[in-house]
Amino acid sequence: MNFETNCVRGGYSPKSGDSVVMPIVSSTTYRYDTTEEVNELFDLEREGYFYSRIENPTVSAVEKHIAQLESDDSDKSAALMTSSGQSANLFAVLNICSAGDHIICARSVYGGTVNLFQHRLSTLGIEVTFIDNDSSYEQICSSIKKNTKLLFGETLSNPLLVVLDIDVWAKAANDNNIPLIIDNTFATPYFCKPLQFGANIVTHSSTKYLDGHALQVSGIIVDGGNFNWENAYSKTGHFGQLVEPDETYKGISYTKHFKEKAYITKARVQLMRDLGCTPSPFNAFLLNNGVQTLHLRMKQHFENALKVAQFLESHPKIKKVNFPGLKSNEYYNVAKKYMPLGTSGVLSFEVNSGNNDARQCAADVINAFRLINIEVNVAEIRSCALHPASSTHRQMSDEELINSGISSGLIRLSVGLESVEDIIEDLERSLK
Ligand SMILES: *Cc1c(COP(=O)(O)O)cnc(C)c1O
Repeated sequence: MNFETNCVRGGYSPKSGDSVVMPIVSSTTYRYDTTEEVNELFDLEREGYFYSRIENPTVSAVEKHIAQLESDDSDKSAALMTSSGQSANLFAVLNICSAGDHIICARSVYGGTVNLFQHRLSTLGIEVTFIDNDSSYEQICSSIKKNTKLLFGETLSNPLLVVLDIDVWAKAANDNNIPLIIDNTFATPYFCKPLQFGANIVTHSSTKYLDGHALQVSGIIVDGGNFNWENAYSKTGHFGQLVEPDETYKGISYTKHFKEKAYITKARVQLMRDLGCTPSPFNAFLLNNGVQTLHLRMKQHFENALKVAQFLESHPKIKKVNFPGLKSNEYYNVAKKYMPLGTSGVLSFEVNSGNNDARQCAADVINAFRLINIEVNVAEIRSCALHPASSTHRQMSDEELINSGISSGLIRLSVGLESVEDIIEDLERSLK
């Protein structure tokens, strides 16, 4: 099936007489005839639902749906939905890292991910090194240490819209027998499928475009099933968690029992069992409704954003526009390679503040918006804006902001699905 068909029809296939809409199975547990059946479930010898912390039919359907969109090989790929994008990235790392391990992350990524990796994982003994998103193959390889277990980056970084050269990162990862994890939240599988370019695991804040209507908070991990854990284990001794026996399941080996599904199965039956960042079936239902129109929304988000970016670029009061869909953008060619149909609806820009305070100028522009919402959010049907320097990056000094590439006058704009003329009119009047 083509992508559009998978959006509308994927994940759930009603049998004769079933409801056409995926039902919400709001049940914590499932009834069995015999205790022997339950024993087999606990030994992972039988497939089936037993407790909704681990698996639930509504959640399973949306997991299958999104795995189909990210991966062209549905026999190998598998997904795990989580309670938030944060827990998706946390699980993606914790599934293969423990105290004493090291990870490498592209420097320009979502601030919440920087906090998680730098300040939280360090308390668990996992060390992170941030390197430039634009690092060369040699630079990435030279940052990889004996205890490095993965590389991490975002297709399109939040909020600077830096495009990752996924081929380069994937080659560096695979040549060093470690996986590449890509957070694909901003591009979505409509514009980019990182697994096609050699990434191994894709994560999302499905709070954003996959839902697209700002209805629920959730996350998802999709494993392409394209990383050979046993091979890496035999060469480097890494990833014993997936290859060696798990004593909490009578000594099964995830790679031997579950083959390509080893990574997701372990994340589900071990991390989700023990840490419990479980999504609600109602959120899965809302998310699934959003996914059904992803192809239409993303196309229109990009079309609107490109027009807004072109308007801003030609406006005398604008100093800089970050939008890789613009020909003048330094990432235009890389974006064309990985995202030929478009990038996303998110852009950021700097107001030309002259001799005035850049922070205040940006705030003044945002405060004058009538249509565009001020929101701590992106990637939804309503246009919304945020001033990073006075919100998400508030704790940073002007100098720290400059080092992270986020100037005090930067405005992040998530272009929605309203009439683009109305959005531009709001910007024009506010800038005036
Ligand atoms: C929002 C976001 C997250 C965090 O997701 P939540 O659903 O808010 O927990 C992670 N990565 C990116 C790129 C995001 O935009």
